[in-house]
Amino acid sequence: MRRFLFDFMAILRTCAYCGSFYSKETVCEFCWAELPWRNPNSEAVIIDASSVCLKVHSLLDWEPDRSPVCSVFILSLKGGLSKSSFDRLAAQFVKKGMLQNSDGRKLVIVPAPSRTQSFDHALALAESLAAVFAAKAVNCLKTTAIESQKTKGKGARSLLVMESCEKFSQFDGKVIFVDDVVTTGSTAKAAYIALGRPSNFEVWSIAYRHLAAD
Ligand SMILES: [Zn+2]
Repeated sequence: MRRFLFDFMAILRTCAYCGSFYSKETVCEFCWAELPWRNPNSEAVIIDASSVCLKVHSLLDWEPDRSPVCSVFILSLKGGLSKSSFDRLAAQFVKKGMLQNSDGRKLVIVPAPSRTQSFDHALALAESLAAVFAAKAVNCLKTTAIESQKTKGKGARSLLVMESCEKFSQFDGKVIFVDDVVTTGSTAKAAYIALGRPSNFEVWSIAYRHLAAD
């Protein structure tokens, strides 16, 4: 019954971008196809955040000034998507050919800590990914501090500090940190340090946001 009601409510939803009436997801099929999907064969983006080098795999290339559809879609993530939207996003990682022939038992998926009390989208995506790859989602990160750091000529920059109730320093599998948007990589870097600098670490995000200066 609940499922039926949910599907019925979905019929009443409209696309967050174009407003077309029937929209099972936050955006309609047309707008979904218009999102700036990265080429499935494209290389991971490597962000060198000071001493740490991170491999980042993103589904979307988000340039806020150039893709209003993507901006609306990203914003709609904050409001909470339906479970099916996250399953669909997880399926996009499968399409990318990620983790072919991998062993789910050697895979840990860690969501970014929730930034607010509201809907936890990183956890929802981590759970959908865990289901798809038969892996384990471990919600072990917590933000402990946001320190203000003075940087040359750029004013104050916030530095994120996290702690984790589990460490993966000795883990011989792969640790995947999941976040909705990656920009500078500072959140992922804080996670990497908190998780005990796992030797096999990757960052998966829905979108990679290009800064205006790129
Ligand atoms: Zn639409």
